[in-house]
Amino acid sequence: SVSPTSTGQQPGILDFDRIQQVRQNFPILHELVHGDLPLVYLDSAATSQKPKCVVDKIVEAYEKYNSNVHRGIHALGDRMTTEMESAREKIARFIGASTAEQVIFTSGTTMSVNLVAHGWAARHLRPGDEILLNEMEHHANFVPWQMAAQASGATLRFLPLTVDWQLDLSRLDEFINSKTRLVAVAGMSNVTGTIHDVSRIADAAHAVGARVFVDAAQSAAHGLTNVQTGNIDFLAFSGHKLLGPTGLGILYGKPDALGEIQPVFGGGHMIREVTKSGSTWADLPARLEAGTAAFVECAGMGAAIDYLESIGMESLARYEHSLLELAHARLSQIPGLTIFGPEVAHKGAIVSMVHEQIHAHDLADLLDRQGVAIRAGHHCTMPLHELFGVAATARASFAFYNTPDEVEKLASAIEKAIEVFQ
Ligand code: PLP
Repeated sequence: SVSPTSTGQQPGILDFDRIQQVRQNFPILHELVHGDLPLVYLDSAATSQKPKCVVDKIVEAYEKYNSNVHRGIHALGDRMTTEMESAREKIARFIGASTAEQVIFTSGTTMSVNLVAHGWAARHLRPGDEILLNEMEHHANFVPWQMAAQASGATLRFLPLTVDWQLDLSRLDEFINSKTRLVAVAGMSNVTGTIHDVSRIADAAHAVGARVFVDAAQSAAHGLTNVQTGNIDFLAFSGHKLLGPTGLGILYGKPDALGEIQPVFGGGHMIREVTKSGSTWADLPARLEAGTAAFVECAGMGAAIDYLESIGMESLARYEHSLLELAHARLSQIPGLTIFGPEVAHKGAIVSMVHEQIHAHDLADLLDRQGVAIRAGHHCTMPLHELFGVAATARASFAFYNTPDEVEKLASAIEKAIEVFQ
């Protein structure tokens, strides 16, 4: 069985002893499923669970100061606006942005990518220009660039992958050249867990005057996102994967990069003046935030950032990595199971796998019957699964509220599933 000390790692502030205390902050983790089975939630890459302080903040906002933001000339409107704008400041600090105006609220990572694809790439790029992608990207960081390429006449190119499911950075020079205008890359893969060397990619892109777009939907939750150290032009992530509410996303941009985005959506709040003959735009961030913002969700997101900072992102990342090491060590002993991804040193806490006899969906189903929640499918990465040569993988993804005991439950549930099939 799994022992916490088998990693040989020094426990951080967040360690295997303190984790039960942390789990008390997440009521859902104490739910029973299928009647009487304790929930083992290993699907945090799809959406994270929420600490009680986030849920409480949302309830507090609705009960005490719900009111539309920016336009109310009354106490409630002022309070709600302060909550929303303070969340923007917290998010800016969390990702290393120098000003809060560089944080645009959207409805999710997908919408953030689309805003840049349609408001910037589709309008700025010309035939002959190149966008560099790779086949490991989530469809959210793939399809919008295909659309932008189609609209602008630009060409998509794909940086090859290595045999161990990393980006082949030794070939960057071949794929980044004077025609490259944009490199879009995830901070961390949602399937293989591969952590990409974003700052090295950014250096290569900037050397030819290209912009870098980082899909931080996964990396943000693992403390891997700093726009300064990464020298990133655009960055996107979703609140719901970062302990926050659904329906809220973030787009960060350098001021000049954001300045080049044309509004895709028009309406209230984003204008300076509207006349019958035409309209002019407000300053950032309002210019890219048409309509009523998800202000209550913003308040909830502010509470999520406070909570994450109280845990400490370094401590959180170290702890999750210990869980990942345990999972890899234990799962790699199971005959017939293949894990797609690099060795643990190069990845975050996601394990995508196939078993030679059991379809990924059957495996997920058999695990669910034991209370273990994982995900099966292509995880919005069809091109990657084509490279894997399978239509679906079973993915277990860990967060800092998971335990070594849950790693063991995952492994023994898989072993039981295999027995059922034999
Ligand atoms: N990018 C990556 C790497 C993801 O894992 C996801 C969600 O799974 C997304 C983008 C899309 O996020 P959302 O559906 O919240 O817009």
